[in-house]
Amino acid sequence: MKYMGTKLVLIDETKTLNFATVTIKLQTVFKLEVEMFIEPSLSGERRGWIEVICGSMFSGKTEELIRRLKRVKIANLKAEIFKPAIDTRYDVEKIVSHDTNFIHSTPVDSSQNILLLAQDVDVVGIDEAQFFDAEIANVCEQLALRGIRVIVAGLDMDYTGKPFGQMPNLLAVADYITKLHAICVRCGNIANISYRKSSAEGQILLGEKDVYEPRCRICAQLKD
Ligand SMILES: [Zn+2]
Repeated sequence: MKYMGTKLVLIDETKTLNFATVTIKLQTVFKLEVEMFIEPSLSGERRGWIEVICGSMFSGKTEELIRRLKRVKIANLKAEIFKPAIDTRYDVEKIVSHDTNFIHSTPVDSSQNILLLAQDVDVVGIDEAQFFDAEIANVCEQLALRGIRVIVAGLDMDYTGKPFGQMPNLLAVADYITKLHAICVRCGNIANISYRKSSAEGQILLGEKDVYEPRCRICAQLKD
């Protein structure tokens, strides 16, 4: 099993401690390393599995979902892509990432419809999973039991930093998890909060850069 996700790697360390002459020189430099998801190589009986791509807005979740699905299509495997009918920000029948990369998808009202519609497929992609109903994790399990590779992308936290919808349950049943991060617009550190710029309340408020910006945990506490 390959390691996936983001990690900090120590690339430079300088320590000079000389207490006799009171000389202290300390330098520690980290670089952020993001490792790309590599599909597991399986042999023998075909088995399904569940991959979850999570993170804040502007972290590249949909781009990563599209990247994996394009590779699936190049391999001549059959893929179906679903998204909740609620998400109509760009296009009703396409999954569109912020850089307008797109791939055709089917909007569904209920997660159970995915079970009905995903017939004869090798791979199922699901975007904006945080908006699906309480059955979504069970639906993904059922698909995996059919031998299907399930790739799910979704917001792990809402704008207040609370777990979003069924994402905690999806993360619990996932075989592989990739957590992506955005960059904080205020300080440049790693951001994991989709900060809401308006004062509107309620967990669901569809919008993009007009309504949200990525912020780190500390800057998300600031009210400006
Ligand atoms: Zn910040």
